[in-house]
Amino acid sequence: MISMMAQAPVSYRKALEGCSCEIQYDVSIAPYTSLKIGGPADVMAFPKTVTEVVAVMKRVSQHQLPFFVLGGGSNVLVLDGGIEGVVIQLDRLNRITRVDTRLLFAEAGVSYPKLSTHAMGCGLSGLEFAAGIPGTVGGAVAMNAGIPGEETWEVLKEIAFVDDKGEFEVIPAEYVRHGYRSAALPKGVVVSACFSLSQAPVEQIEETIKGLMKRRRETQPLSFPNVGSIFKNPAGAYTGRLVEEVGLKGYSVGGAQISDRHGNFIINRDNALARDVLDLIKKVVHKVRQERGVKLELEVRIVGRE
Ligand SMILES: Cc1cc2nc3c(=O)[nH]c(=O)nc-3n(C[C@H](O)[C@H](O)[C@H](O)COP(=O)(O)OP(=O)(O)OC[C@H]3O[C@@H](n4cnc5c(N)ncnc54)[C@H](O)[C@@H]3O)c2cc1C
Repeated sequence: MISMMAQAPVSYRKALEGCSCEIQYDVSIAPYTSLKIGGPADVMAFPKTVTEVVAVMKRVSQHQLPFFVLGGGSNVLVLDGGIEGVVIQLDRLNRITRVDTRLLFAEAGVSYPKLSTHAMGCGLSGLEFAAGIPGTVGGAVAMNAGIPGEETWEVLKEIAFVDDKGEFEVIPAEYVRHGYRSAALPKGVVVSACFSLSQAPVEQIEETIKGLMKRRRETQPLSFPNVGSIFKNPAGAYTGRLVEEVGLKGYSVGGAQISDRHGNFIINRDNALARDVLDLIKKVVHKVRQERGVKLELEVRIVGRE
């Protein structure tokens, strides 16, 4: 859920006056999410440098504004009432630099698939799994994005971070606890990450990526807006299979539907509302609990006001 701080003042304009980065007010957020759902954000800030991130976070802290960091929006369900406070969107932080023979630096707004392709071009192996994971480097760090057997924090050396007081710090990867689709980060903004990779022939990396992408095309409903897996896979089971077993594949509410291709995907089939998606989520949780005795845990992050 959104990071809430006490007493959000009414005048965002005054609080953010003089910030050099682009600020927009009352912005429709749906286009910034892969599900294409969600009400407006009160404020959106689009920093293009780390200095601008620091400046925004200092104002946020000083005026006790609620804030939310948005990457590619490929793992969030924004509710129909939109997001209160300042949404910090990092698309413009998009630099990639090869640091040495094995290290690759990327700013938080770099698309994860783009970084994977870049690593391949450098003959660097370790980010093949990222080729099919939409979203940004910052989102992948926050979510510990991955595929079975491979995940983001396994190839991270360090991250750079701006905390909720606007203080910049570099955090070595070994200092951060992480698990399946989670990383215990403090409140704030990941502004960049440095990846430790290994050298390998480009053709070999390309082959691996091709195989992974083929499998995605075969199993995922990629032609409709979606948010990837809605739930985490419970230990020793696959949520998609559980959903199929309880007969909910293809089930719909309003414009949202549980994909008939992959039971752990909800698609926005026809102008769905967040409310439709929430109803589907509740239905799945209830039925899988009732009929299979399994308690599902959300992978998607739900943010905003109902
Ligand atoms: C078709 C499809 C396939 C997918 N396949 C996979 C998969 O195989 N494996 C997988 O792990 N995920 C998968 N996902 C989910 C999603 O792509 C990943 O979780 C991705 O890493 C989210 O990145 P994002 O930039 O879109 O983050 P967002 O959705 O924008 O945000 C997700 C969370 O990260 C936080 N966050 C984002 N950026 C920052 C930042 N810079 N600093 C601090 N916090 C931040 C947000 O506040 C939010 O809590 C898939 C999604 C889709 C649509």
